[in-house]
Amino acid sequence: MVVVLKPNTSIEEREELISEIEAMGVKVQITQGTGTSILGLVGDTTNVDKYRIASKEIVSNILQVQEPFKKANKMFKPNDTIIDVKGRKIGQGYFTVITGPCSVESEEQIEGIAQAVKENGASLLRGGAYKPRFSPYTFQGLGLEGLDYLKHASQITGLPIVSEITDVQMLDRFVQDVDIIQVGARNMQNFVLLRELGKVNKPILLKRGFSATIEEWLMSAEYILSEGNEEVILCERGIRTFETYTRNTLDISAIPAIKRLSHLPVILDPSHATGKSWMVEAMSKAAVVVGADGVIIEVHNNPASALCDGPQSITPKQFEKLMAKLKTLIEIEGKILN
Ligand code: PEP
Ligand code: MN
Repeated sequence: MVVVLKPNTSIEEREELISEIEAMGVKVQITQGTGTSILGLVGDTTNVDKYRIASKEIVSNILQVQEPFKKANKMFKPNDTIIDVKGRKIGQGYFTVITGPCSVESEEQIEGIAQAVKENGASLLRGGAYKPRFSPYTFQGLGLEGLDYLKHASQITGLPIVSEITDVQMLDRFVQDVDIIQVGARNMQNFVLLRELGKVNKPILLKRGFSATIEEWLMSAEYILSEGNEEVILCERGIRTFETYTRNTLDISAIPAIKRLSHLPVILDPSHATGKSWMVEAMSKAAVVVGADGVIIEVHNNPASALCDGPQSITPKQFEKLMAKLKTLIEIEGKILN
């Protein structure tokens, strides 16, 4: 439920109403617009007396939020969320390029890639230290050693870093070392992990699960938001369909759908969506024009010898060409590449 207050309502009047509403057993989230305040009621609203609230002089309108996601809902927060990561802004008006290898493989590898992508306009550096692989016999990531290398690459280049968490026990270390914590497709419904991520003060990149609907994906974001962490970035990375030509099927329409339903930033992952390096450029360009807030692209110095996801990784040289094209499109869309 959303309660829209009349313009010029005083803070005292607003606070009095909030206390009255909270006494009905829900939490109230305030969004301050220009002139008016919007009160979002979170929790079980069955005991909320809508008519009593509507009768107040300061109330202009009451809207019933039909969707199960509340804090992620655009009705609760009409102004889009912009997340600041060490001066790089993610969200409305900005286009963010996160790039780097699927996995950190060595100190030289991550530092070399970091330097190359920085020169070509990358905003943030990605690199997996813990890899949730389909087979237990394949490379599982360098673990803490990988995180150390990633951190060092960040110190050298100044690029903030993104890395995937796979185990809630690693949370303190991730909060300390990483600038954005990634939740992979396989953990999108790890609700215990999501709740814990909701208690930290660190942006979360939440990838869409293979078979998750848009609503299920937003409900996973809701797990994080409901615990207090309001910095969630969504990532469309392709879904499972009957098609096998591509690794996944990119649900490009999920981008405008999220933009309509939610205030959260949404980026696109053309690498995992297609599984093919030669498709990355086309899908990245599509990301800009459909209104995504950014892309996350896998770049590897030598894709043929990559320990993970080589076939979908582009080289630093290909990244350079891609960025030249993206810059033109970003400008046409009137956005700022940060
Ligand atoms: C990744 O980013 O390397 C990754 C494993 O992605 P996803 O969770 O989307 O498969
Ligand atoms: Mn990968």
